[in-house]
Amino acid sequence: MRNLRCLAILCLSVVSANSVQAQRARNGVDAVTAAQLRDYLTFIASDELEGRDTPSRGLDTAAKFIAALCSRWGLKPGGDDGTFFQTMVFRRDKVASATTSAALGGRIFKLGEEFACAARPASVSAGAVYVGDGWTIKAKNVDAFAGLDVSGKVVVANYSTAQSPRGTPRTELKGKEGEDWLDPAANAAKHKAAAILFIIPAADSSAWSRMNRAMDFPQRRIVSAAESAQPGIPTFYASDVFVKELFAGEQIDGPALLAALAEGKPAPGFALQQGKILALKCTVDADVQTTQNVVAIWEGRDPKLKSEYIAIGAHYDHVGVTQRPVNGDHIFNGADDDGSGTVAILAIGEALSKARTRPKRSVLIVWHAGEEKGLLGSEFFTARPTVPIGSIVAQLNIDMIGRSKPAGDTKPVNKELTGPDEIYVIGSKLMSTDLGALSEKVNERYLKLRFNYLYDDPGHPAGFFYRSDHYNYAKRGIPIIFYFSGTHEDYHRLGDHIEKIDFAKMEKVTRTVYQTMWELAEQTSRPKVDKPLAASVTRR
Ligand SMILES: [Zn+2]
Repeated sequence: MRNLRCLAILCLSVVSANSVQAQRARNGVDAVTAAQLRDYLTFIASDELEGRDTPSRGLDTAAKFIAALCSRWGLKPGGDDGTFFQTMVFRRDKVASATTSAALGGRIFKLGEEFACAARPASVSAGAVYVGDGWTIKAKNVDAFAGLDVSGKVVVANYSTAQSPRGTPRTELKGKEGEDWLDPAANAAKHKAAAILFIIPAADSSAWSRMNRAMDFPQRRIVSAAESAQPGIPTFYASDVFVKELFAGEQIDGPALLAALAEGKPAPGFALQQGKILALKCTVDADVQTTQNVVAIWEGRDPKLKSEYIAIGAHYDHVGVTQRPVNGDHIFNGADDDGSGTVAILAIGEALSKARTRPKRSVLIVWHAGEEKGLLGSEFFTARPTVPIGSIVAQLNIDMIGRSKPAGDTKPVNKELTGPDEIYVIGSKLMSTDLGALSEKVNERYLKLRFNYLYDDPGHPAGFFYRSDHYNYAKRGIPIIFYFSGTHEDYHRLGDHIEKIDFAKMEKVTRTVYQTMWELAEQTSRPKVDKPLAASVTRR
């Protein structure tokens, strides 16, 4: 009897080993090799890429290299307009005060005191129409523009600090923005107004200081190419003096209008007298730089499941160069951070293209920019995903898998660096029991790496759960696994060079990620998010 059981167990392990073997032959994982990883990293971590800062020429060069390879392998472009690039535009728009003005007849208003404006180019000379609060809320039968012709005119509206209609928080507005409800600026644009002029009573000093701060010290914004091309309706702000001039002689004059506002009972809208022409001019000093996420798709074979995606990611940016070279070296090559992840997902893309079969679900590969500057690329991608965010089943993030602790190393700075057959696995069990179990099952059946869960808890003082791109996916309810080998003596230092990379380890970790991706892509059902993240974790 005992012999029969041993025979059965033996058969089983042979069968499962065979099934893993058979799967490996079919799914292409063996195409991921240390030599392949070294070839790509030799370029990605080379001085020629100047430390791949965001934005920079070196990063753009890396992006073109990655896209060229993806195209060669037959991956589908997953970026903007049929390209592999999702353009991010870094803009800092400053109002040029010398050439920005507002006038009514001969009366010229003082910038910063009597008027202000958003940094959007404008040159308007037109009549004005007052629209009260300016909102349209279909559910409440509110339409401040009803019966008013504002096309080509300056719309004058009451400013709302809360950016919401009087008495209704914006979050409580029902239906679709832009259809079921519109804020004053969107309404003015929809009705083809030339500009919008918001009334901000002088008493609202915090709003005025905010306006002036925005004009003097504009924030950098990160927008898409389309958003960058559409700056939005020219927007100006008027204070009491301006309002009194503008409404002089109207059915309700300035002081009365401001008093009504102060009482919270705004006057209804009306067209101002024909002869009143507002001349509004705003010029902008724009500091515009562009960069890109690189996005590629390997389509799945299952007619239904191929509309779902396993996302794998890394950041292909690093920190650029230093003004204080050490021994003539001024380039942060970032071979481990995150050159290792960048080429690991390249290798996975290549292996997929060489596999004898495709996985059932599709694979979405994203090389994120701007990680070193605050997870900018993954924030941008997950806020403007090029595939429906709900179709992303899980995200596997690789950041720094290229180093292992040298035998006998006792340097404190390398204390937490993992060994040659060990990797930190972060987040795999956090949101989805299924995902955690799958991750371990794959590893057990395959290379049996030592999965170290030291940093798994978001509450760990090192906070690694928050410190790489997977976090932006997790924040949006997508279960993630983050693969990381630990910090070391060259972390964010000039010494993060290719010579110190453990390619044997990188091959093992990359293959393990590949098998995990494949298993996820073949599953009948997607891993269930049975432990959604607490608000305290997603609110960072
Ligand atoms: Zn990194």
